[in-house]
Amino acid sequence: MAMDEIVDGMSEVSCDVLVIGGGTAGPMAALKAKLKNPKANVVLLEKANVKRSGAISMGMDGLNNAVIPGYATPEQYTKEITIANDGIVDQKAVYKYAQNCFDIIEELDSFGIRFLKNENGDYAVKKVHHIGTYVLPMPNGETVKKALYRQLRRARILISNRYMATRLLKSSDGRIAGAISVNTRTAEILVIKAKAVILCMGAAGRLGLPTSGYMFGTYENAANSGDGYSMAYHAGAALANLECYQINPLIKDYNGPACAYVAGPFGAFTANNEGSRFIECDYWSGQMMLEFYNELLSGKGPVFLQLKHLHPDTISEIESTLHKVERPTRGLFQQGRGVDYRNDSIEMHISEIGFCSGHSASGVFVDDNARTTVPGLYAAGDMASVPHNYMLGAFTNGSVAGIDAMEFANNHDFAEFDAADVAKERDRVMAPTRREDGIPPNQVEYKTRRLVNDYLQPPKVTRKYELGMRRLAETREDMQERMIARNAHELLRALEVQSIMDCADMAVHASLYREESRWGLYHWRTDFPEKDNENWFCHTLLSKQNGKMTSEKRAVEPYVVPIADDEKDLYDKQRIRATA
Ligand SMILES: Cc1cc2nc3c(=O)[nH]c(=O)nc-3n(C[C@H](O)[C@H](O)[C@H](O)COP(=O)(O)OP(=O)(O)OC[C@H]3O[C@@H](n4cnc5c(N)ncnc54)[C@H](O)[C@@H]3O)c2cc1C
Repeated sequence: MAMDEIVDGMSEVSCDVLVIGGGTAGPMAALKAKLKNPKANVVLLEKANVKRSGAISMGMDGLNNAVIPGYATPEQYTKEITIANDGIVDQKAVYKYAQNCFDIIEELDSFGIRFLKNENGDYAVKKVHHIGTYVLPMPNGETVKKALYRQLRRARILISNRYMATRLLKSSDGRIAGAISVNTRTAEILVIKAKAVILCMGAAGRLGLPTSGYMFGTYENAANSGDGYSMAYHAGAALANLECYQINPLIKDYNGPACAYVAGPFGAFTANNEGSRFIECDYWSGQMMLEFYNELLSGKGPVFLQLKHLHPDTISEIESTLHKVERPTRGLFQQGRGVDYRNDSIEMHISEIGFCSGHSASGVFVDDNARTTVPGLYAAGDMASVPHNYMLGAFTNGSVAGIDAMEFANNHDFAEFDAADVAKERDRVMAPTRREDGIPPNQVEYKTRRLVNDYLQPPKVTRKYELGMRRLAETREDMQERMIARNAHELLRALEVQSIMDCADMAVHASLYREESRWGLYHWRTDFPEKDNENWFCHTLLSKQNGKMTSEKRAVEPYVVPIADDEKDLYDKQRIRATA
């Protein structure tokens, strides 16, 4: 058989809890579900291989948002994230995370993932945020995935690698009933009946096109093509604040983080071409990105991460973290360019857009139990709406989702789905394989993502968005009528493009709905340049209603932790003012 030849087959299995996405949140959700009811069947479905999949595949330098007793309180953290996200936060979920995350750190520590400690044996947390101290380095962060995998094996979680989920199944009364997936090497279809489903498919990271020109050189793990967002949408779940894009300050051409979080506590800083600081704080927020953007346009660009003023020993210490733990490719990249941090500053730029709650706030709407608006359907990690979640949020909320989903499964039997839904999905999935000739998926993808860059990258201009919507609709027609897949691998790509297209449409719809500017560069609408708290101090929820994309407002839940008037705009004051 030729490689990845298409096999026409279909089978069905069932389980109590199905977790889709085995990156960060997924393994923790599966583990906690299984520990909650060891007799139950838990399936962890992954598009790639759980051993090395997702945003933390190679490892991670540290926890960006650790709430450690003695350094910070859950109240302080909740306040910081509320302010960083311009007040549009349902605090209950953030507060619950802040209360639970320390236990998760200790649990990860017991798995063998070590965190930086000082000479007294206490966690050595660093200050990066505007107000509080939350960054905890992980000197052996390259072991994260391995340590997690050991736990999954021990708990006897059923792992299905190389299955890409494509659609969710529901019963006629709206309850979750399972999911449909496709084998990425054979194109065989696997239907999984489940009492509860947890979506952990990460950010929508392949939305914009990186300026490096590499389609897969995205900031996010490139397997995260927004399938989770698309599936939740088609299942009728609500998605929150999608107009609050993710845009990051990155190393130019490498398109990975410069890691001011790692280097900053040692004395490195973000500087303009004159070597001057221009932002108060390196913590990523929309306001910080706007200052970055303004600096680039001011003629004082490029912007750099500067560390050449530091002692050579300090630089070596930074290098050993940045080049060995999270991203070994980074060292190779700098070497290839001949950049030595002792003499050279690191050129940075602005990333492509994406959806992500991990660094921003755009995700499938969930409450503080990780429940979506569809009964029995959960979401956790970068694709769920709890803002500024990062890795520890994925672990902590994955844990919350796993426990609650197993409780749901304990109390419900399988919901019945309509066999016609499976047949319909099979037709959609296989359509590109049934054509003799047409456009390969990579061309449709390139075109779609180029349109995203041309029309959707902020600043957001209404006229551009309207044109973008039309161009995307034309490309969608090409995709639906003419895209071909000649083997199982191309079929995977063809399915991914369909998720990307859905995400692009949702980005347009959500952005046009919110008629104000908020979250700095993330949602800067030139036709509505001011923040309008009177009309828009609210979430926006996007969902499919009667087959149509619809947006509505949702009030921000009353705060658990009050924010004083003089604290509300602390994150707006990012720019360093010249003082005489
Ligand atoms: C470059 C980079 C650096 C970062 N640095 C830090 C840091 O230093 N500290 C920190 O706290 N956080 C950091 N983060 C954020 C953190 O890594 C993420 O918030 C977290 O890992 C997200 O977890 P997740 O489970 O939501 O997604 P992921 O871990 O990305 O997992 C998603 C999984 O879903 C799978 N999947 C996708 N679609 C499908 C499908 N259709 N079917 C089946 N499976 C599917 C993917 O293959 C993947 O394995 C960083 C992120 C990036 C990208």
